[in-house]
Amino acid sequence: MMTTSWHERAAALQIDGRAFIDGQRVWARSEQQFENLSPIDGRKLGMVARCDAADANAAVASARLAFEERSWAGKSPAQRKRVLIKFADLIQKYGPELALLETLDMGKPIKYSQSVDVGATANCIRWYGEAIDKIYDEIAPTAANSLALITREPVGVVAAIVPWNYPMIMAAWKIAPALAAGNSVILKPSEKSPLTALRLADIALEAGIPAGVFNVLPGYGHEVGAALALHMDVDCIGFTGSTRVGKQILQMAGQSNLKRAWTELGGKSANIVCADCPDLDAAVASAIGSIYFNQGESCNAPSRLFVEASIKDRFIEKALAMMPKFQPGDPLDANTVMGAIVDATQLKTVMGYIESGHSDGARLLWGGRQVDGESGGYYIEPTLFDQVDSTMTIAREEIFGPVLSVLSFTDLKEAVKQANATSYGLQAAVWTSDISKAIQTARALRAGTVHVNQYDGDDITVPFGGYKQSGNGRDKSLHAFDKYTELKTTWIQIG
Ligand code: NAD
Repeated sequence: MMTTSWHERAAALQIDGRAFIDGQRVWARSEQQFENLSPIDGRKLGMVARCDAADANAAVASARLAFEERSWAGKSPAQRKRVLIKFADLIQKYGPELALLETLDMGKPIKYSQSVDVGATANCIRWYGEAIDKIYDEIAPTAANSLALITREPVGVVAAIVPWNYPMIMAAWKIAPALAAGNSVILKPSEKSPLTALRLADIALEAGIPAGVFNVLPGYGHEVGAALALHMDVDCIGFTGSTRVGKQILQMAGQSNLKRAWTELGGKSANIVCADCPDLDAAVASAIGSIYFNQGESCNAPSRLFVEASIKDRFIEKALAMMPKFQPGDPLDANTVMGAIVDATQLKTVMGYIESGHSDGARLLWGGRQVDGESGGYYIEPTLFDQVDSTMTIAREEIFGPVLSVLSFTDLKEAVKQANATSYGLQAAVWTSDISKAIQTARALRAGTVHVNQYDGDDITVPFGGYKQSGNGRDKSLHAFDKYTELKTTWIQIG
C-alpha cells in the first residue's frame, strides 16, 4: 500500500526549479536551465535554473544589503532562535514532501529520507537556534584600568557549497550555525540534487527569515560555484565535497579576497576489528550496515575493513549472510534499504573501481555487478572484496559506492600504520575488549573521529570533520560557530 502511495505522490509532485534570490523564486538571468533527472528510473523530474556569475552577483548584493540593514544580524539571539525553531518545525511539517524530493533526486531509500534526512535536518536547525541565546562573550583578565571585551560577530555573507549525498543534511550543517550567528547565506546545492535546497528556501521564508538573508542558487560548480568562491564580496565559504574541488576552493579564496574557506572533504576510513572484539556479530552488522548505508555514498563510509587474521573466516561468513539484505531495490518502496546510485557518471566511476579490484588481484566474494539496467535507473550490487592489500587502488582511493575491501592483519601496530597510510583522515574505528589497546589505538589513528566498538556514533553535539586531506574546520557542535563568526577585541580605557 505504502509503495503505491509513494509512487502516486511522486507522480503528482510539482517541481519548481527556479532559484531563490532576495526572497523570490526566479529563473537564472541568462534564462538557462538544466534537466533534473531521477536516478531511480532516469525520468525527467523538471527543469532547474542554471545560475551563473550574474545570479551570484545578484544574490551576493541582496545578502550584503540584508546584512548591512541588520534585518537579521540586528535581531536579538532570542528572536533568531524563535524563527529558526519555526523553520525546524515547518521542515517536519513538510517532511513527507521533502523526503520524497530527496529520494527522487538522488536515489536514497524513502525509508531513510524520512527517518534520517528530514529528522536530522530539522534537528540541526532547531539545535543551533536553541543554542544561540545561551552563548556568552568574554572579558579578558587585563589590568584594572582597562576592559577588554572579546566578542563574536557574524562574518557577513556566507556561501555554502554542498554535495549530493545528503543534500539537506549537508546544507543544514552549514546554514544552521551560519544563520543562527546572524550571517546572510547563499546556498549552492549540487547540480545532481537541487530540489530540497530550493524547497528549504520557501520554508525559510514562511518561517520568517527576511528576504536576502537566505538565497539558493542551483547550477553547476564551475559556473555559479566558482563565481561564489571567487566573489570579492563573499566573506566566508563553507564547502563540503570532494578533495579535488576543495583544493580549488582554497585556491579561489586565495586568488580573490582571502575569504575564510572551510572544507569538509573525502574519506577512506579504516575499521579495525581485533580478535578480542567484544561482540563479533555487532562488529559484522556495523561494518556491513555502515558501508552499504546510503549506497556507500557517505564521506565517512568505513570502506577499508582490517580484520585480525585469526577471526577473518568467521567474520566473512557472517558478513556474507547479511549481503542479500542490501540487494538494491526501488527507492520508493518503503522496505528498500539500498537504493540507486546518484547518476550515470557515478555508476561508471564505481564500476571502474570494481574492475580495478579484479585486475589488481582482489578476490570478489559478493556482488560486483550493475543490476536492473532496464528500469533506466542506476543500481549496483553490494560488493565485497577479500584479499585486498594497501597498494591496490580500491584500498587507496575514495570509491563513494557500495564497495567494501577486506584486508587482514596479524600485528595491530602494522594495521594502524596501514590505516594511517592514506591522504585522508575523516574517521576510523577499532573493536577490542582491551581498554588500553582501544585507547592506544584511538590515539594513534589520525582521524577527526575514532569509534571504539561501534561505528554509528553520531550526534549534533559532537564535531564532524577530518585530518589531512579530509579538510579543515568542523561542522556540527558549538565548534561550528567558529567558522561563521569573527572574534573581536574591544579595549576600553577606564578612568
Ligand atoms: P564535488 O566536489 O564534485 O561537488 C561538491 C559541490 O561543489 C557541488 O555543489 C558542486 O557543484 C560544487 N563544485 C564543483 N566544482 C566546483 C568549482 N570548480 N567551484 C565551486 N564549486 C564547485 O563533490 P560531490 O561529488 O558532490 O560529493 C562527493 C564528495 O563529497 C565525496 O568526496 C565525499 O566524501 C564528500 N563529502 C564530504 C563530507 C564531509 O563532511 N567531510 C560529507 C559529504 C560528502
